[in-house]
Amino acid sequence: MSVPSLRERLAVGPGRVDLGAIDPSATPGVKSRRRADDARGQLSTELGDLQERLWARSQCEGDRQRVLLVLQGMDTSGKDGAIKRGLDGANPKWLHLASFGPPTDEEQAHHFLWRIRRQVPEPGMIGVFDRSHYEDVIAVRVKGLAPEDAWRPRFEEINAFERQLHDDGVSIVKVMLHISRDYQRERQLRRLERIDKRWKFNEGDLDDRDRWDEFMVAYEEALERCNTSVAPWYVVPADRKWYRTWAVSLLVVETLRALDLRYPERPELDIEALRARLLAS
Ligand code: AMP
Ligand code: MG
Repeated sequence: MSVPSLRERLAVGPGRVDLGAIDPSATPGVKSRRRADDARGQLSTELGDLQERLWARSQCEGDRQRVLLVLQGMDTSGKDGAIKRGLDGANPKWLHLASFGPPTDEEQAHHFLWRIRRQVPEPGMIGVFDRSHYEDVIAVRVKGLAPEDAWRPRFEEINAFERQLHDDGVSIVKVMLHISRDYQRERQLRRLERIDKRWKFNEGDLDDRDRWDEFMVAYEEALERCNTSVAPWYVVPADRKWYRTWAVSLLVVETLRALDLRYPERPELDIEALRARLLAS
């Protein structure tokens, strides 16, 4: 019996998404913290190796492949930690990171995908979105920033956009970091109490917390409506940091593994002649 990949385990299935049925403290695919931590060394080496191949192919073969990791989750779900530790081993030179907060006046004047399109990673790069266009069907919906007839059509627009990216070589990995409401309270309390965390405290996050159930409904519908074969959604239980870090790493690595990233052979080089030239120099 073959072991399912983490992508298979964490993919939201077709049909209804019920976040209430997914335990945020579960650890699917790994038995213990020790095993997860042990695996991370090897994962980071592999990530670095695959990332270099991806870049090399874009440089020498005009390969347009790239990866885009989209991170979504409630406040304190661990997006920053996932970026810091989940991508261990990656060369920052070939990472493209973009964070999306409330739109600026300029962004607001454009279509909601305008600011997103500008941050799509170039061929050979690994892109990371810290929040994304999904805020335009989640935060916008829950906070009533646009009427339903404005945000609802966005599900289809997003699917068309992601299909376009896919057709242009972008492997999209969409991750929802799924925490419990209790875990969030604990983390938000810690932010108030600890001076090294307080800088992150934002009272608006408590307003979001008060609308937890509405956020979950909005997440569920976004995951359901935009879970396509070209851009699947994964739900990562995130109440345990070690699990979340391990899972994000492995989801990215599995995505890269599936790309068959052979080093470019560079047939245009006359190896013999170049070797002779070097030896004579
Ligand atoms: P943080 O991730 O802590 O930097 O917080 C970013 C905040 O920006 C969150 O409260 C998001 O909900 C909010 N945000 C991001 N994108 C949008 C958007 N398109 N419309 C409204 N709020 C957004
Ligand atoms: Mg925040």
